[in-house]
Amino acid sequence: MNKKGHVLNAILLALGLGVILTVDPRTFEPTVDSLFLLAQKIGQLSLPVVLGALFPDVDTAFGKHRKTLHNLPVLIAFLAFPIVFNNLHFVWVGVATHYVLDMVGSKRGIALFYPLSSQEYDLPTGVATSSKHADAVTVVITVAELGVLAGIHYYLISLDVSLADAAASLGAMV
Ligand SMILES: [Zn+2]
Repeated sequence: MNKKGHVLNAILLALGLGVILTVDPRTFEPTVDSLFLLAQKIGQLSLPVVLGALFPDVDTAFGKHRKTLHNLPVLIAFLAFPIVFNNLHFVWVGVATHYVLDMVGSKRGIALFYPLSSQEYDLPTGVATSSKHADAVTVVITVAELGVLAGIHYYLISLDVSLADAAASLGAMV
């Protein structure tokens, strides 16, 4: 995907995730307080997710594109940062969605295990980044991502905890 696609994906994802994390459809009532909480959550997610979604393509300027900053060690670093330094919360969401969009939405894959292996992994889906359908594909993928996140949040585990809080409570238990 190109930068426009990644920004579109990140903005829609921040909006949707903000709704998923603050609006429980079983109990939600549109009061001033609940709408304020919703706006606050979307604001909290927006810049970190957009920045995270832009970060991997920095490797177009140095290193090897779709390799140097498109791999699991980079994602793990962004997951670890909030836990270790209580900093850069939610940036990993943008990095992760960038990888998904590149693998699912475009023709070329990404080198998930770089620098251990230069093999690029891809799904047999997607369109050329220059395709006129790229935006539509991006929206479809974003909706699918939000469906998965909503399923996880409502039925499996609440996603509305910062990783640092989660680590702290884990630390308190052991
Ligand atoms: Zn990319």
